[in-house]
Amino acid sequence: MSERKPLVAANWKMHKTRAETAAFLDAFLPLAGGRLDGVEVVLCPPYTSLQAAVEGCAGTGLRVAAQNLHFERQGAFTGEVSAPMLAELGVDAVILGHSERRQLFGETDEALRRKVPAALAEGLTPILCVGETIVEREAGETEDVLRRQLETDLTDVAEADLAGIAIAYEPVWAIGTGKNATVDQAGEAIAYIRSLVAAHGASAAEASRILYGGSVKPANAAELLAPDDIDGALVGGASLSPSDFFEIAAAADPTSVSPTERSGS
Ligand code: PEP
Repeated sequence: MSERKPLVAANWKMHKTRAETAAFLDAFLPLAGGRLDGVEVVLCPPYTSLQAAVEGCAGTGLRVAAQNLHFERQGAFTGEVSAPMLAELGVDAVILGHSERRQLFGETDEALRRKVPAALAEGLTPILCVGETIVEREAGETEDVLRRQLETDLTDVAEADLAGIAIAYEPVWAIGTGKNATVDQAGEAIAYIRSLVAAHGASAAEASRILYGGSVKPANAAELLAPDDIDGALVGGASLSPSDFFEIAAAADPTSVSPTERSGS
């Protein structure tokens, strides 16, 4: 079994008001209480619900992440939020380079090259997303895309800091489509990503958590998260439901008791 603690993150995208965040926690915390010790669970609400999430998660062991940040600490960047602002709020982590930001908002690897160190400098764990489109996969370019993205995004990260970054392999064609990657496809891409990290340092590659994301549901979580090399999941749609997200987090937790065992049947 790997030494890495699995990480399961709920990417709520542009969903959940403050009141809906509190309602999620009211339902999720009784399910999770004392049960998810072997997995790091992270909620990633929109900016406006971060404070509600930080307050609601205090003392529970759950962590909170933002979905983006600006690489500058402050300045004339209307509509943007910086790493120190998130850290002051009590946020622990940040999703960077999600494919929706890359595709819909023009996020570039050059910007990510600056965002990753900006997050690390404030003690925020970057959850860095990489992945190929269907056109790139069918053209046999998956590894080229992953290499191009990671080489630029990690350019300015010191070797000692690499282990503190979680990388999410998220094939664009699997996000929100209901068509998840197979375990083999996810495993191959993740092994390749680990080899790229290893080029910066063998111990960093051993310590880095590399997650899978793309249509993870309760029905496929156990299979997708079983391999030792897949260190958890970034979950979109299914994370909006407290019970579905709990099932997925439990599937990632090597210490978790299955729902059948818990009910004693
Ligand atoms: C995501 O948005 O990161 C994601 C994986 O979405 P979904 O689980 O809905 O495919």
